[in-house]
Amino acid sequence: MSELRYCQGTECHMHKTKDRIKGTKGSKTYQTRRRSSFYYGNNNFCSLWCQNDWFNKYGDLAINHFGRVTTAKHLTQDNAWSKEYDWNSDYDNRQYIYVNGITKEQRPLTEEQFRDNTYTLNTGE
Ligand SMILES: [Zn+2]
Repeated sequence: MSELRYCQGTECHMHKTKDRIKGTKGSKTYQTRRRSSFYYGNNNFCSLWCQNDWFNKYGDLAINHFGRVTTAKHLTQDNAWSKEYDWNSDYDNRQYIYVNGITKEQRPLTEEQFRDNTYTLNTGE
């Protein structure tokens, strides 16, 4: 059984829904949702509402902390590689390919390379 975690929404307890009412009779309060997993914000928020609450409060701080985009990024042949299935391959013998979105060049990929999130042919950001 996975451990329960709290929604990270800054206002979660302010959204009055029946499932948020917790506590013993006579001292019930609306409380932050607690679940084994959440669908939103990389498993941190119970709803888009809570995700937006968090972003509205901390988004600018987070962006400034990790680096604000201040110039346009460019898609070039150096960063246009993306991993795909070869849709013509059999389901039981799936073939993986790297496709360059600019040059349309295709290169074969092993399944291991396909699943490795650190493996890339991209040399630019
Ligand atoms: Zn929430």
